[in-house]
Amino acid sequence: MDLSFAIEPVYIATIFFFIVGLQRMSHPLTARSGIVWAGAAMLIATLVTFFTTGLSNLVLIAIAIVIGGGFGYIAAKRVAMTNMPQMIALYNGMGGGAAACISAVALLATHSMVTGGIAVVGGLIGAVSFAGSIIAFFKLQGWMPSRPITFPGQQIVNMAIFLLTVISGVLIVLQPAAIPISAAVVLPLFFILSFLFGILMTLPIGGADMPVVISMYNAFTGLAVALDGFSFAPPNYAMIIAGVIVGAAGSLLTLQMAKAMNRSLGNVFFGAFGATDTDGGQVKGSMKAIETDDVAVLLAYADTVIIAPGYGMAVAQAQQKVKELTDLLENKGISVKFAIHPVAGRMPGHMNVLLAEAGVSYDRLFDRDEINPEFPATDVVLVIGANDTVNPAAHRQGSPLFGMPILDVEQAKNVIVLKRGQGRGFAGIENDLFYRDNTRMLYGDAQETVGRLIQSLKKL
Ligand code: NDP
Repeated sequence: MDLSFAIEPVYIATIFFFIVGLQRMSHPLTARSGIVWAGAAMLIATLVTFFTTGLSNLVLIAIAIVIGGGFGYIAAKRVAMTNMPQMIALYNGMGGGAAACISAVALLATHSMVTGGIAVVGGLIGAVSFAGSIIAFFKLQGWMPSRPITFPGQQIVNMAIFLLTVISGVLIVLQPAAIPISAAVVLPLFFILSFLFGILMTLPIGGADMPVVISMYNAFTGLAVALDGFSFAPPNYAMIIAGVIVGAAGSLLTLQMAKAMNRSLGNVFFGAFGATDTDGGQVKGSMKAIETDDVAVLLAYADTVIIAPGYGMAVAQAQQKVKELTDLLENKGISVKFAIHPVAGRMPGHMNVLLAEAGVSYDRLFDRDEINPEFPATDVVLVIGANDTVNPAAHRQGSPLFGMPILDVEQAKNVIVLKRGQGRGFAGIENDLFYRDNTRMLYGDAQETVGRLIQSLKKL
């Protein structure tokens, strides 16, 4: 039975689902259902595509779906919450790679200058997103140094590769028959160059700039999918609109992340932020440890406490204990607020999600601009597994972090830092805060330390 007439109306319906899903993802409390809406839309759009007239290789498609879907299902079930960012980078890269493959198929078929041009641009962006996301995955997974990787003449090499990519793309668009090199050589060359450019473009980006890069490749994948949607005849509206939504959301997130880091996109791509991996020469004094019982006393006598959580809280899965500690302090009449840095953790909204999961009310969370003026009048700041996002070196000219807006916790009367040892933050830079006179270090895994702190407080 020919059901192809139903494809477009169903695509339009799925677009509505995508938009509802995206809207619900904008708040931690509704985000889970947002994922379900968008996932359902994707499932329906995939199923309905099987009714396309003249679709062949159905068995191969089914096998690919089973392998890809099976791998995705098992990996998503097993992944630790702290490894989510690299999984997202990997899956985003797969999206870019799939878009590049669709472009390749479109370019192998007969194409006009217009559809060929669109497919070349889509292929370039998709391949760059694929290669760049794989490098981001390696950096986040710790299989490659997270700091920027630079070499002399890097920008010239990158420009040369980009130029060659563009030339090979133009050769493909200008009808293979009209050029001296056969299409069989130019097409693979174009994708190899695009892939290489994606790698080279991402290597010098690292340290605290990774959030900007991840969200930008997310936008790239969306854009590549949307362009691929145009390269079909007739155009595939589900791909165009879903791609545009992802591209637009990813672009907005990229700009927000860049703003949070006080960095222009040009700076992110050409600045090699944090390329010098030490800043130790500037640090004065020594780190001073403190015992749990002494912190408990300090907290018990405080009127105001601010908690600044970071990646270490996620590693330790300490959010439930932190919530317990918050309740305990509030029952003693102490005001407790949370200071949330936009790039704390390893993915946008990481801290918000963890704290919401633990039941911390959303109105307790304050962003950097709201909370920074409150630090000077705060009795105790508990820094729980945060490092780069509270590093005052960001205020000092000459520091690799200079210019990054941070939580000004060092202005509080007492700062207690919970971390396991002398480990550095993601950017690999020494933290001035730990050496300040008003800072004390409470060593240990954050979950265990907060647990001990709760016990000590209960005894008081
Ligand atoms: P950081 O990554 O700078 O530091 C985390 C600290 O947590 C470390 O110094 C570590 O010290 C400590 N830690 C690790 N495990 C534990 C544990 N079990 N218990 C207690 N402490 C622990 O954290 P921030 O959140 O301040 O900064 C995030 C960084 O990640 C920024 O540089 C940001 O740019 C980057 N990033 C952010 C992304 C995002 O989207 N949010 C994405 C990619 C990168 P020790 O080893 O001594 O315990």
